[in-house]
Amino acid sequence: MEIAAWCFLGGWGAGVFLEYLLHWIMHRFSLGFHIGHHREFFHLDEKTVARRTADPRMDIVFFLGVLLAASPLMLLWGWVPVLCVWGGAFWHVVIVYEICHALMHYEALLPGFVRGSRLFRWWKGCHYEHHFHSPAGNYCVTFPVLDWLLGTYVAPRERYEPLPHPRIKPDGDAIVVPKPPAGGPAVTSS
Ligand SMILES: [Zn+2]
Ligand SMILES: [Zn+2]
Repeated sequence: MEIAAWCFLGGWGAGVFLEYLLHWIMHRFSLGFHIGHHREFFHLDEKTVARRTADPRMDIVFFLGVLLAASPLMLLWGWVPVLCVWGGAFWHVVIVYEICHALMHYEALLPGFVRGSRLFRWWKGCHYEHHFHSPAGNYCVTFPVLDWLLGTYVAPRERYEPLPHPRIKPDGDAIVVPKPPAGGPAVTSS
């Protein structure tokens, strides 16, 4: 039992790294479904963005493939450790990540004291910084400390424009913020 618990925790930790790696790959190779999430962010209301992004089907297919690839290890180490490591990573990416990401985009589901806390404002701010200005930073949505350790952390700003904000236009993988007309108001806060 104890070994199973440690394997699960190890798998959970691996799942956090996997979340970072998968998000990096999505941007490195401009994977359409994720770039679509970045586009929607500016044009749809926050509730719709959250609802459309919380779709674990692709994660589940990916993890079934991982389980198939890892199945020979069961002959070596037994099925309990392999299944528990896999289960920990599955738990993080398919459940924890999906819920955290959806709540960041639609915080109204959370109690007020959580939404108002400095920790939540920073945590959500890291992901909004990724969406608004820094698609090449803050890849680990659930645990931004990992970005800090790996050198891709970008600190959130004091405030961001209310959404949706159709004047801000994403351009492919990068987020291009048009310059305001001379003398006009700034499009984004800093
Ligand atoms: Zn997002
Ligand atoms: Zn992204």
